Amino acid sequence: MAKKGRVFSGARPTGRQHLGNYLGAIRNYVALQDEYDCVYCIVDIHALTTVETTENLKQNTYEMTLDWLAAGIRPEETIVFVQSHVPQVMELHTYLSMVTQFGKLTDLPTFKEKVRQQPDNVNYGLLGYPVLMTADIVLYKSDVVPVGIDQAPHLEFAREIVRSFNFRYKTKVLIEPQVKHTEVLKVIGIDGKEKMSKSLDNHIELAATPAETEKRVMQMVTDPARIRRMDPGNPDICNVFSMHKLFSSADEITMVDRDCRTAALGCVDCKKLLARNLNKHLEPFRTRRAELASRSGYVEHVLNDGAKRACVIAEKTIEEVREAIQLP
Ligand code: SF4
Repeated sequence: MAKKGRVFSGARPTGRQHLGNYLGAIRNYVALQDEYDCVYCIVDIHALTTVETTENLKQNTYEMTLDWLAAGIRPEETIVFVQSHVPQVMELHTYLSMVTQFGKLTDLPTFKEKVRQQPDNVNYGLLGYPVLMTADIVLYKSDVVPVGIDQAPHLEFAREIVRSFNFRYKTKVLIEPQVKHTEVLKVIGIDGKEKMSKSLDNHIELAATPAETEKRVMQMVTDPARIRRMDPGNPDICNVFSMHKLFSSADEITMVDRDCRTAALGCVDCKKLLARNLNKHLEPFRTRRAELASRSGYVEHVLNDGAKRACVIAEKTIEEVREAIQLP
């Protein structure tokens, strides 16, 4: 079947992925491959704007790539690569920065948020983050970028930068990417409060062992009003029940919904059932991950091959860009 165009998406090298990453992004990445030519980039340069130490960058990149591949990203058709392996992006970033107004960058809510988060490290790269992001997208002539509703303004800004460039140099060489709205599931961590994240240590890793997974599930915060075993619970406000809805059968979901409310089901048994279903769901992923990890040099090969294929597209674009600017 002919594909509809090219999709680009980037993600920071955060190491082993967790359920939140999977439900929020990776499964979309996998599904998009059926309709689009996909370019998935591990944005290590972006990571430098916020990381304090780089000693884990390589390992984190390896682990994340392994998770993507085990989850179903097909490197024979999809380009999977590391941002810094295609240096043309730095050059394009510089050109795009000349058509981006400083005031617009400082006004962006995401920049202001970062300034609040890391007041001692408000670096130049942090300010230019949206410009580098635009360079990532347009370097690969991407037609479509999958984003959740809350990220749509970022892409609108990228489109603005593209329009400024094309207007300034009277060209059509850069393509304005279109937004593809995707349903980004927000997964709450085992603390029952915050979005699942590694830094908050409220996550469940995809590659964890069955025993580790069960341990994390047993730590999940439930309906806080259900203090004793005989107290009826409210599944509507319980994160364990939210997870059942994702990983348990229809009959089990109905049973939990009913028996929690009458206290016929206790939280320990409810969590054990969830852990069992979660482990069953993750078993094929873990088997595949172990198999890929046992192939010596496989992940490195995928990333090298991805960079080569990405470089071919990038070089063509950057030549067109230099010509449009009329560089001597
Ligand atoms: S029985 Fe299950 S759904 Fe009900 S409060 Fe306990 S863990 Fe949550």
